[in-house]
Amino acid sequence: MDLKQKIREIKDFPKEGVSFKDITTLMQDGEAFKYAIDEFIKNLKDKNIDIVVGPEARGFLTGTPVAYGMGVGFVPVRKPGKLPYETESYQYGLEYGSDTLQIHKDAIKPGQRVAIVDDLLATGGTMEAAAALIEKLGGEVVSMQFLIELESLNGREKLSKYDVNSLIKY
Ligand code: IMP
Repeated sequence: MDLKQKIREIKDFPKEGVSFKDITTLMQDGEAFKYAIDEFIKNLKDKNIDIVVGPEARGFLTGTPVAYGMGVGFVPVRKPGKLPYETESYQYGLEYGSDTLQIHKDAIKPGQRVAIVDDLLATGGTMEAAAALIEKLGGEVVSMQFLIELESLNGREKLSKYDVNSLIKY
């Protein structure tokens, strides 16, 4: 299936010069959404994954169906102040500024094999932060799966020590 044609591009959002990749058009198409999630699951099925992590907010949309489909748990990585229990934090730079991400301290057990799923790889800052949080807790980042990769931003280079896969490339 040509997933790229299901993505809507919005010029100058959220600021001038950015061509925003809108995944809502893919998600509202049941066949395309199922196809994309099934592709993620196919990529992960031989990797002995114990848990799926998804960064706020579109990593929730892409990560939870993958976890459900694989019969493993899901762990959210969130912006500061959203998670109710004790957290680990990591600060990072992203395409539109800088931010901090958090994870519950007991969300990953040492030695667990983790897959991270998100909508889009740009500079790789978000994923680097998510991976650092998982590793702080003793988890092993086995794979990173993205719907979309913006190749010109070289996120893959920043994440060169990881297994990185994307379904749609720009
Ligand atoms: P990175 O940290 O620079 O790789 O940016 C990736 C994060 O920014 C992802 O979590 C995306 O949700 C978000 N993002 C950046 N550009 C876009 C876009 O064009 N469409 C949707 N999300 C984007």
